[in-house]
Amino acid sequence: MLSFKTILLCSGLVLRVDAFALQFRNPVTCLQPLECDTLSTYWSPAARQDATCIFTPANTQDVARAVKLFTRKNCQFAIRGGGHSYNPGWAGIVNGVLISLSNLNTVTYDPQTGLASIGAGNRWRNVYASLAPHNVTVLGGRSSNVGVGGYLTGGGISYYSNERGWATDNIHSVEIVLADGKIITASREQNSELFRCIKGGSNNYGVITKFVLETVDASRPFNGFVGVYPDSSTNDLFTAAYSYCTGGSDSDPKSHMIFSSSINGTSVALNAVIMTYRDAFDAANPAPVLEPYLDSNIPNLAIIPISINGTVGEVANALSNGQAPGNRYTMGTFSIYADLELLKDLRNIWAEETTTTIRTRPGFATEFAFQPVGEKWLASSAARGGNSFGITSPLVVVWIQPRWNSAADDAVMVEYTDRVRTRCEQAARDAGKFAKFRHLNYGGRNQDIIPSFGTASVLRMQLNKIRYDPLNVFGRLVPGGFKIPGF
Ligand SMILES: Cc1cc2nc3c(=O)[nH]c(=O)nc-3n(C[C@H](O)[C@H](O)[C@H](O)COP(=O)(O)OP(=O)(O)OC[C@H]3O[C@@H](n4cnc5c(N)ncnc54)[C@H](O)[C@@H]3O)c2cc1C
Repeated sequence: MLSFKTILLCSGLVLRVDAFALQFRNPVTCLQPLECDTLSTYWSPAARQDATCIFTPANTQDVARAVKLFTRKNCQFAIRGGGHSYNPGWAGIVNGVLISLSNLNTVTYDPQTGLASIGAGNRWRNVYASLAPHNVTVLGGRSSNVGVGGYLTGGGISYYSNERGWATDNIHSVEIVLADGKIITASREQNSELFRCIKGGSNNYGVITKFVLETVDASRPFNGFVGVYPDSSTNDLFTAAYSYCTGGSDSDPKSHMIFSSSINGTSVALNAVIMTYRDAFDAANPAPVLEPYLDSNIPNLAIIPISINGTVGEVANALSNGQAPGNRYTMGTFSIYADLELLKDLRNIWAEETTTTIRTRPGFATEFAFQPVGEKWLASSAARGGNSFGITSPLVVVWIQPRWNSAADDAVMVEYTDRVRTRCEQAARDAGKFAKFRHLNYGGRNQDIIPSFGTASVLRMQLNKIRYDPLNVFGRLVPGGFKIPGF
């Protein structure tokens, strides 16, 4: 890795020690001075890496100048959207410059085209709030504090995914800065191969500065609930969840469900379902797809309304408030083909590995969660031109997410997560139900993600990598993030 000194030398940057500000000394080389900002927060302090300089561009041209300079001078850098990655170095860098996109935060809506133009440094909270007066919304984070850039380039599971596919499938076009500083548009019409690769391509092709997104009608009400169920309800709940994984989500794609189990410290495990419904809700006559979770057939501890006949923004804000930044987290993910016994076995593995030694670490909590990806979701992705994921049949995305307090426990928690994941993957293989796909947005630091998209996708991504980033700037000089094999 290049040292900061090397970066200074090679770029002609001069450090103003007092303000920790960098200025380009040579205006011909550098076009305009770059100033260093102070650090914005990371959602998980376990992912934090402090860059030597944080550069916060005001517009796309600033991004282009910086990238061109870094490419020419061989300077390492990182790209940050909302800083919600779980992995250190993905949106931070040691001995390098962090391009933080937080000032690229405009949101506009064109009623003629029905498209929304979103600056890549936005968080979903601002996007939902800005679009709400137009009675439209977009496929975005289920938690509103999440950043737009990382979420969309990693796929993006949204409350609307059963109807509209991955959020990334709903991108109409992007504005992207390539390694040579060129600003181009990629869409189904222009640079169409690059466009497809970006959907799951993370930071491998360039810095995306703007996303133009298809919108969804938001004139109808949106509802969200959290059902909380005791450990003793696991069998009943998982049976219902299995049914949702195997046709339930397709039977009423206005619904969306995240199934999870959690352990908080030394307390007994609980189950939860976050469920949303994109239409009017009548408590006396709920949509049949929701009924099993709301009535008492599956004994519950509480059904907590998040927003009744409200908006998607309200639901995402509420979830975000429950997942505030500041705690340490890591993540691990894999996928399976739906199987009731396997789902229960995986939950048992997770519970078994969550030993007393792990549970008694300060601030410990852990979540085991799964997300069905059904036929209509996949059909919607295909109808919109496809993506990089290489998924051909319905599956269930699974993830393990521990939380803890102390940096001293970081390594233990990463090991714990990897151990649970590896055992679960083996159990899925043994059951003949292992699905190769790994959801990039939930990928842990020790996981290979892009190879899980399959040979055809990887080959397409590699070919376009050579075409659009021939010097491999976004592999070589941007060390963080999930990389394309060979780059
Ligand atoms: C509380 C919480 C809730 C979440 N909910 C969901 C959910 O509902 N659905 C889901 O799919 N995921 C979800 N995620 C995962 C989330 O999508 C990823 O963590 C995602 O990377 C966050 O995007 P970001 O811009 O905040 O990330 P960052 O940490 O800023 O960036 C992540 C990666 O993307 C790259 N990147 C970011 N912006 C750009 C850009 N403009 N151009 C090129 N590369 C870029 C970065 O270099 C980095 O490698 C959630 C995460 C958290 C912490």
